[in-house]
Amino acid sequence: MIKKDLGWRFENSYVELPNTLLSKLKPTPVKYPELIIFNYELSKALGLDISGVSENELASIFSGNELPTGSETIAQAYAGHQFGHFTILGDGRALMLGEHITKDNKRLDIQFKGSGLTPYSRNADGRASLDSMLREYLISECVYNLGIPTTRSLSVVKTGENVIRETNLDGGILTRVASSHIRVGTFQFALVSQNQQNLKPLFDYTIKRHYPNLINSTSAPLKFLENVLDKQIDLICNWMRVGFIHGVMNTDNMTISGETIDYGPCAFMDRYDPNTVFSSIDNYGRYSFFNQPRIAKWNLERFAESLLPLISKDSEKSIEKATEVLEEFSDKYKKKWLTMMKGKLGLFGDEKHDEQLIFDLLNWMHKNEVDYTNTFCHLMNELSNDNEVYRDKYFIEWRKKWKDRTELNNAFANKSLEMMKVSNPLVIPRNHLVEDVLKDATKNQDLFKMRELLSVVRKPREHMNLLRKYQSLPKKESKKYVTYCGT
Ligand code: AMP
Ligand code: MG
Repeated sequence: MIKKDLGWRFENSYVELPNTLLSKLKPTPVKYPELIIFNYELSKALGLDISGVSENELASIFSGNELPTGSETIAQAYAGHQFGHFTILGDGRALMLGEHITKDNKRLDIQFKGSGLTPYSRNADGRASLDSMLREYLISECVYNLGIPTTRSLSVVKTGENVIRETNLDGGILTRVASSHIRVGTFQFALVSQNQQNLKPLFDYTIKRHYPNLINSTSAPLKFLENVLDKQIDLICNWMRVGFIHGVMNTDNMTISGETIDYGPCAFMDRYDPNTVFSSIDNYGRYSFFNQPRIAKWNLERFAESLLPLISKDSEKSIEKATEVLEEFSDKYKKKWLTMMKGKLGLFGDEKHDEQLIFDLLNWMHKNEVDYTNTFCHLMNELSNDNEVYRDKYFIEWRKKWKDRTELNNAFANKSLEMMKVSNPLVIPRNHLVEDVLKDATKNQDLFKMRELLSVVRKPREHMNLLRKYQSLPKKESKKYVTYCGT
């Protein structure tokens, strides 16, 4: 037995929902749990106290071999459109420990990923590879530090058991922290199961937990749709801001909280190409960089369909009202996207040719295969590596137009620059570095590079000498980067 309670304050409300929405079960113990990485900063923010707890004990806890007092482990049921096809899913390899209440009274889901079979595992093994769990840890922490809503990662434990994929791999378990795991797909499941009887309880629960301001609203379901739509627009704009490609925007991977979830085949784009896809199975570019807003809208339409019975008893009326909300997506997105891009370029106020100015730059980057992140660093004078591409005649002309534009509307150079610095990361987790970091972490269990990358992303301006390395581009021949689902 572990001597010490880590300070968990579990208060599990999801288990009270109708039992078709979840299954109660325990994680499958693992043979030789070994702690690989632990997020001390997050643990502190959660109010946990791990002083006097050994690494072995942490490994036991965060592998699920020793469950903390107060946890009630459950797998959640959900459905989802995967690449456009509707399927009944559920946590096939994840298990929620419970909802932890932080000192400032935030309710957070604590969940294992890779913890063994569940009733929703279908033909798969319920396990995850160490490599993919470390990847989720790394990228989710980078996304968080880039100021984007996301689930977070508390630890990764090596299981001491193999998982069979294309080859035998080390198994791993991630502990994920999320404001909840309620997805668009959870509502889709409630719509198609139990004669829709669970839709209202799920809705009431979700409103209470995430949108309490809507509790007394006369049109709460519609407002809920609108709120989720707004959050998703914010999220996608953030992804577009930093060149993040989620890679598998199935409806089960879209949270109603607006947090990024499920770091499978995601990656950051280097050379600007709106059609970029990294996922090995995304043959038609459904989840390409450019398509992300379109897919978000498509997913929200599926979400709206799930809410129709709650919006009005009259189905025609429901459709009409939901459609009105959905139709706002394009204008809202465009407005937010434009504001975001103007932030990246330090432009104040609105000018007639702003959009043209933005597209001219994007088109130039695309045509010349220029790095997205570094171009904005160049404009901020924050690029540590010289690159002759920025001596291109067309670009110099564009830069002159841009410079003139930044001076309009009472903007001073330093104000513009400040705005740009808030919007533009100096570093992103570049694919060639991520591969290198993960190779060291899994093959040699050497976490030095992973920690360095995380520390650079955390405080990008404090490591000027390291910036050169993190702003360096991959060699041309490593152009086709491939990522995988379900590893
Ligand atoms: P994902 O692509 O990670 O969102 O997973 C889609 C669905 O497949 C979810 O229901 C997962 O829980 C399930 N799943 C993925 N990998 C496994 C696995 N190794 N064992 C069981 N279920 C899995
Ligand atoms: Mg998923």
